Amino acid sequence: HGVTGILAVQGAFAEHAAMLDRLGAPWKLLRAAEDFDESIDRVILPGGESTTQGKLLHSTGLFEKIAAHIAAGKPVFGTCAGMILLARKLDNDDNVYFGALDAVVRRNAYGRQLGSFAATADFGDIKDFPLVFIRGPFVVSVGDEATVETEVNGNVVGLRQGRIIATAFHPELTDDTRIHELFLGL
Ligand code: GLN
Repeated sequence: HGVTGILAVQGAFAEHAAMLDRLGAPWKLLRAAEDFDESIDRVILPGGESTTQGKLLHSTGLFEKIAAHIAAGKPVFGTCAGMILLARKLDNDDNVYFGALDAVVRRNAYGRQLGSFAATADFGDIKDFPLVFIRGPFVVSVGDEATVETEVNGNVVGLRQGRIIATAFHPELTDDTRIHELFLGL
């Protein structure tokens, strides 16, 4: 297939690029609207700071490009801040970005004490995936269109909706390539 566009206005885009290198999959960093060319057939929205990413998405013109990509039903993978950017609604922030994922997501949901931690859980059929959380969100309600793939400590942290994958955790910060492989297969 084609090239994965990795949103690279802010955040952990380099780690996703390294993961795709391990899988031998081509990628291109998206920093400006012109970077989103016809070779791009899937998009990664990395972790970082969603408010900053949201502002930069609009100022670069990448927002419209990626929104059209998602509206066309093409694959997108959002990790952490990327899950926030995809959500239909946030329960502790008035912003809505792509609004494509049928779920309500809470930013910084684990608070200060448990801001960063590790766990292990399934992502759907992918068993015992290592979960790395860094001031991540979790999902407070899931609509009919989305499917819960990962739950940990009673909280939903992984979703799938057609060709959308969203994780509150960071697969790109582990050695486990399985969720990236699933994404590349969509
Ligand atoms: N706390 C960040 C936010 O709300 C997300 C953290 C992350 O992506 N590691 O945007």
